[in-house]
Amino acid sequence: MNLIEVKNCYKVYNNGVTAVADFNVSIERGEFVFVIGASGSGKSTFIKMLYREERPTSGRVDVGGINVARLRNSKVYKLRRKIGIVFQDFKLLPKLTVYENVAFALEAIGMHTKEIRPKVIKALENVGLKDKARSFPNQLSGGEQQRVCIARAIVNNPKLLICDEPTGNLDPDISNEIVNILEKINKDSGTTIIMATHDREIVERMKKRVLLIDNGVLAKDYAKGSYKVHESN
Ligand code: ADP
Repeated sequence: MNLIEVKNCYKVYNNGVTAVADFNVSIERGEFVFVIGASGSGKSTFIKMLYREERPTSGRVDVGGINVARLRNSKVYKLRRKIGIVFQDFKLLPKLTVYENVAFALEAIGMHTKEIRPKVIKALENVGLKDKARSFPNQLSGGEQQRVCIARAIVNNPKLLICDEPTGNLDPDISNEIVNILEKINKDSGTTIIMATHDREIVERMKKRVLLIDNGVLAKDYAKGSYKVHESN
C-alpha cells in the first residue's frame, strides 16, 4: 500500500477560499517529492492536511494507513508519531541545548533516558552536529539551527518527513547543504520526504518527483526531474 493516498480532496476555508480542489495523488514509501507552485497556490494547505493541521472539507487523505480526514482529535498523536516536520522558521526552544531540543519530543512521549540518548546522538550525527550537542540555539548559524530541526524531526525514525520551505530563510550554499542532508536521510533510512519549496535551483538539481500546484489544483506531476525541461518539451 502507498504511504500517502489523496483522493478527490478539497479544502475550503471558512472565508470561502478554495485552497485545494479535486486533488488526487499517491506517494509511495521511500519517495522524495518536491511540492512547488506560486505563493498562495495551496502548497501549505496540502501539506497541513497530511499531518492533520487542517482537515479536508471533502475527499480522502490516507497517511500510513490512517484515514486522516476522519481521525478524531484525540487520536491525532498516533499520526504525528509517524511524521517528522520541519518548518521555515526553526521553532527551537531557546533555553534548551541542542541535545535537549532533540530529546524533548522523546521525553514527552515517556521514553526512558537510556533509550533516548543513543537516538539523539545518532540523529545529531546524521545532520553533522554531534559536536554542538551542548550549544544553545542562539550560538548556532541559521543552517545549523535548521539541521537541529531536522535531527529533532527524524529522531524517532518517522516514516514520513514533511518539510515546508525548509530553506526559505537560508543562503543558497546552506540551502544545498540542507537538501543534501535530506537526500541522505531519504537514501539511508528510506524515509519518505515531501518538501515544499520556492527554490527552483534545488528542484532542478535534485531530479526528484515534482508536484506543481496551481491555484489549488495539482497541475503537473513530473515523475522525475526538472520541471523546466518538461515544460519546454
Ligand atoms: P502556499 O503554501 O502555496 O503559499 P496556502 O496553502 O498557504 O498556499 O494558501 C492557499 C490559499 O488559501 C491562499 O489563497 C490563502 O490565502 C488561503 N488560506 C491559507 N490558510 C488559510 C486560512 N487559515 N484561512 C483562510 N484562508 C487561508
